Amino acid sequence: MTDLVVVGSGFYGLTVAERLATERGLKVLIIDRRSHIGGNAYSANEPETGIEVHQYGAHLFHTSNERVWEYVNRFTAFTSYVHRVYTSHKGEVYPMPINLGTINQFFRSAHGPDAARALIKEQAAELGGKTPENLDEQGVNLIGRPLYEAFIREYTAKQWQTDPRELPASIISRLPVRYTYDNRYFNDTHEGLPVDGYTAWLERMADHPNITVQLDTDFFDTSQPINKAAVVGQVPVLYTGAVDRYFDYAEGELSWRTLDFEQEVLQVGDFQGTPVMNYPDADIPYTRIHEFRHFHPEREYPTDKTVIMREFSRFAERSDEPYYPVNTAADRERLLTYRGLTEGEPNVFFGGRLGTYQYLDMHMAIGAALSLVDNKLSPLFSGTKDV
Ligand code: FAD
Ligand code: UDP
Repeated sequence: MTDLVVVGSGFYGLTVAERLATERGLKVLIIDRRSHIGGNAYSANEPETGIEVHQYGAHLFHTSNERVWEYVNRFTAFTSYVHRVYTSHKGEVYPMPINLGTINQFFRSAHGPDAARALIKEQAAELGGKTPENLDEQGVNLIGRPLYEAFIREYTAKQWQTDPRELPASIISRLPVRYTYDNRYFNDTHEGLPVDGYTAWLERMADHPNITVQLDTDFFDTSQPINKAAVVGQVPVLYTGAVDRYFDYAEGELSWRTLDFEQEVLQVGDFQGTPVMNYPDADIPYTRIHEFRHFHPEREYPTDKTVIMREFSRFAERSDEPYYPVNTAADRERLLTYRGLTEGEPNVFFGGRLGTYQYLDMHMAIGAALSLVDNKLSPLFSGTKDV
């Protein structure tokens, strides 16, 4: 007998399954339409080189949430990797996110923090103190027009294929701007990569006698015994697929961005000397190049070969993997309608990036899943025995 069906084996689904199986002794069936577990965090070793490749784009773990940090450490140890990114603009390489090094290199200056702050303040003055209402205004407000146009505007246009004036300011609020030479990409207390890879971590989360995983199973495929029509109303369901797909796009499609990845094995020991190089110029079609060996300098990888991956961004069609919610005003309105519909689904819980149409990092997905267990699922199963 199954107590809960989880649709999607990403971090959200796995966290809920693991908690209910371990803490409450419930029997959980996880289905996934892909042929592997782990959702977008899945990684595999490239066969020719043995280099771990994050199949759906580079995944960097970072969190300041102590509860999440304690939880994830039950399944994996983390390396001391600290993420740093560089960006190649008009034939010159600069550190990202924008910091005192970027500012001084760009303006051929030697400003200290106060002088740099004054310079940027002057350049950002064109907004006249108005609260930024979209990404374009937020960019100018944060770093002034010259830096915005060099490093953000075209990159964002390539990545989102949407006029930055129609994108929410919040997309680049994620990017810190620093008036020091600190070029760490993330500000979080904890950061690192799983010592023996993402897949080993994900598999340990699913490794419980009460958890069954069924791959290659689409929740909407009625030829499979476990599908929406057969299950909803019969057994509680946690759904972490796309919310608009669940309702067969009845209220229209939410817009998503997908990515195309071009992977190549090169016969050189080191291609770019760093894990991620961004390309913010409009004449280069990809947004960035990942070189996976640099995520694990502690590993013994071959010294004469390397794996790189170019990342291209475009709007998702229905048949594509939806990666990033575009989140225009029209999307937000449509989302509210879908949220209303979710209320009417008996014992179906919607979670994760796709199920809530939210840009969630791994630690956020895990944190939200722990809260769902606390606030909704534990009370639902309160008759069952704690183990
Ligand atoms: P997902 O991992 O997307 O899992 C959802 C699962 O549901 C998938 O396996 C899918 O196959 C399955 N599914 C969907 N529909 C169906 C269906 N109809 N039937 C059956 N199964 C279905 N986070 C970070 O913290 N750091 C990073 O550096 C980072 N980089 C990222 C880069 C990219 C390109 C992307 C896309 C995401 C990145 N993330 C990063 C976010 C991270 O991937 C997510 O936070 C995490 O995967 C969330 O997990 P989830 O379970 O919500 O969703
Ligand atoms: N961004 C940019 N230039 C860069 C890096 C990021 O303009 O060199 C902007 C862009 O709009 C992007 C956002 O900042 O969508 C967030 O970038 P981040 O690298 O955090 O996002 P990711 O795509 O890795 O999730």
